[in-house]
Amino acid sequence: MREIATKFVDWEVPPIESLKNTVAYRAKKDLLDGKKIHRKTKKDLVFALNTNSRFKDAIPLSGWKISFAAWLKDFFVRTPYGMEIVKAFDKPSAKYFITSQGFKITSITEEDGDGISQKKYRELQVVPKANGIISDETCPLCGGQHREAKVPVWLFPKKSKRPLCRACAEKYAPEMLQFVSGYNALLKEKS
Ligand SMILES: [Zn+2]
Repeated sequence: MREIATKFVDWEVPPIESLKNTVAYRAKKDLLDGKKIHRKTKKDLVFALNTNSRFKDAIPLSGWKISFAAWLKDFFVRTPYGMEIVKAFDKPSAKYFITSQGFKITSITEEDGDGISQKKYRELQVVPKANGIISDETCPLCGGQHREAKVPVWLFPKKSKRPLCRACAEKYAPEMLQFVSGYNALLKEKS
């Protein structure tokens, strides 16, 4: 995609030239020309990207869509209130967006591998389930072989019988892991 913007509405819109002085237009032009964009510009764009209700990787302006998809990465930001996915150019711009929303950052992870698993984790809808699996199982997130489900209750995707490995449980569902660990310990105590 070499064009700066694409029209995304059916009705007539002002000519693309009318956007020439906007931050988004100029930044997109610079990026297409292989130029770097300023740190402040990145922050402004990341803010606009993550707060507009129409697109996640583009900025809507007067019926024009200015896409930055090719330069964005997903950042997984853990805050005391949960996990947020932020589209950003880099870590500083992702951090800026979250802190500008008034949130403290517990951890921040860039996509690669991790991010895909994070998406997968959400799709799988992991829940605690009673089980009694004692054989080797493959983790639905990382594919690793493990026997972690050798406890009364363990973490499984809602619609699957493949238990998560401990590493993935620690990474993606620490609260739930803590809960099932406590539950299993309690059961052990009672027996
Ligand atoms: Zn795993």
